[in-house]
Amino acid sequence: MNRSDLLISMMAALPFLASTPALAQSEFNKQLEDTAAQREVRTIYTAKKILTMDRSNPSATAVAVAGKRIIAAGSLDEVKAALSDRKVKAALGDREFVVDETFASKVVMPGFIDQHLHPILGSLTLAIEVIAPEKWVLPRGTFEAANDQAEYRKRLREAEAKLKDPDEWLLTWGYHALWHGELNREALDAINRKRPIAVWHRSCHEFYLNTAGLNALKITAEMTQGQGQASEQANWQEGHFWEAGMKLMIDPMLKVLATPERLASGLKQMVAYLHSKGVTAYNEPGALYTPDMWKLYVQILGADDTPMYSTFVADGRSIPDRVGLDNALQATEEQIAVAPECAGSKLMFFPKQVKLFADGAIISQLMQMKEGYLDGHKGEWIMPPDQLEERARLYWNAGYQLHIHVNGDAGLDTVLDVLERRMRESPRADHRTVIVHMANSTEEQLGRIARLGAIVSVNPYYPVGFADMYGKVGLGQPRADVMVRSASVLKRHIPLSFHSDLPMAYADPLALASFAVNRSTPSVRVAGPEQRIGVEDALRAVTIEAAYSWRKENEIGSIAPGKIANFTVLEEDPLAVEPTNLADVPIWGTVFEGRLFPIPAEPRRSAAVHGNSKLGHSLALGAHEHGGDSCNVARMIVAALSEVTQEVGRAGAR
Ligand SMILES: [Zn+2]
Ligand SMILES: [Zn+2]
Repeated sequence: MNRSDLLISMMAALPFLASTPALAQSEFNKQLEDTAAQREVRTIYTAKKILTMDRSNPSATAVAVAGKRIIAAGSLDEVKAALSDRKVKAALGDREFVVDETFASKVVMPGFIDQHLHPILGSLTLAIEVIAPEKWVLPRGTFEAANDQAEYRKRLREAEAKLKDPDEWLLTWGYHALWHGELNREALDAINRKRPIAVWHRSCHEFYLNTAGLNALKITAEMTQGQGQASEQANWQEGHFWEAGMKLMIDPMLKVLATPERLASGLKQMVAYLHSKGVTAYNEPGALYTPDMWKLYVQILGADDTPMYSTFVADGRSIPDRVGLDNALQATEEQIAVAPECAGSKLMFFPKQVKLFADGAIISQLMQMKEGYLDGHKGEWIMPPDQLEERARLYWNAGYQLHIHVNGDAGLDTVLDVLERRMRESPRADHRTVIVHMANSTEEQLGRIARLGAIVSVNPYYPVGFADMYGKVGLGQPRADVMVRSASVLKRHIPLSFHSDLPMAYADPLALASFAVNRSTPSVRVAGPEQRIGVEDALRAVTIEAAYSWRKENEIGSIAPGKIANFTVLEEDPLAVEPTNLADVPIWGTVFEGRLFPIPAEPRRSAAVHGNSKLGHSLALGAHEHGGDSCNVARMIVAALSEVTQEVGRAGAR
């Protein structure tokens, strides 16, 4: 970028430093002096390289920051020259910028963004004993993978032996039958008959309890009979509860699992985990919460030392379910008003954005497929097409941006038909309807997505985790291998972002980028090699394109004058390492709103030592296991929590 371009973009950015850009010049200058000049830290960070993700100025070596905003990016000379310009000085006042060389040997990127995850599920699962098919490197310690039944049982026994109080629950998450073999009450009784034990499945859609666990929750055989579908999806004798069967035990279970203490420590743990992966902003679409949970969110996610934005999109499923279609818009506005966007707040509901759902989930193969499944089973709808239609119309006509969960190609047809009718009835420019997940699609459908002006956010873990298994079961290799088309999306210039759907996959943007770049499966095979994308495009998907999907591309997602100074600082250049090693690039820490947040030494070291380039070879979930995706189960857990926490609240008041 030449100097005059730099100056133009800097001058364009300067109004950001005042709260109201339209102020008269003298007042504007005065306000700057009052607020900015006196309190702001003024720094020029130099770096080995700055990958700006700004196409007009892709690479730099210095970035000037005043307070929480970026003022200029370029070479050190360019930045200094720009800052010494008369007009810039007049606007910013005379205070000097100090050159800071902390990042002199490091690579600075825009703060990473996880486009979509579920904080309560992430908090609860990662707060208990993790024994999973894949390794989890968490701030409180590394939980190695348990690869087979013997290892799983050994780890259960070890975890049990660590507990001192004989009445204390052993709670664990991560079990999966494909790796860990069958599990039932008897097996858990063999670990300890007297201590209550609960095992939460990797998908979060199943629980196993031992005898003491069933007794502690006061669940009798009779209680599990005659409850329709719930009874069909529970086996008291085996201590096994799945899907609707979880209703028979989830309320008392959550009183044990989701104590205020564990929710609080779990949320803190999740924040530390996200920070250790360089995340500076995330969103939960279709967010539900209880008043008590929200208080906790404000306390922990909104704390001064929490270096990230926690953002939410209203739930277009439960709100109209609760208040009816006629009152849904007002109820949605009220929901959003709980945490409106405002300066200084880290917690916010995005205005005029809503989450809708089409078909079933990928783990359980309940998506709607045009050509059906090899074994003849059928997909499901989360929102039947007529319901999706009427809700999409309601929110569309009110000017909302739609985020629509969809996994099957027949599901996608329905979504695109709905969108096409909206565009015909009442066309909107820049509606940015987000196609969420898009596990299965056709080339022709991608053409429609482009023509209709929709955008795409995917979980690039799907082909890595499922293509081998789904090649054998349900889909067959040709369809399984092209799950999550990505190169085809980019070829049509459709904006593409990535999400983890934590705890579905690691909330680790470099790992997600690596999945999309390599598409390498557990059998060390590349699923759909033609759908691999370049490293730079993958990095855009966890920065500027994720911001774009939230309508935040003017605030975050790239390093450009006027934007928030959120950076992820890497020890190596991700564009220079072998693409297969992308997930192993060590992270120094982050800068959030201009403040430095290095990762504490311990998790950084262990992450670097153990690496996670091989994670794609172990983080695989099987077909025909129970369980949808995180979106769906997060909703169920919070709905149950709302009843439980109200009771806890009442008990507390007594
Ligand atoms: Zn979903
Ligand atoms: Zn989700």
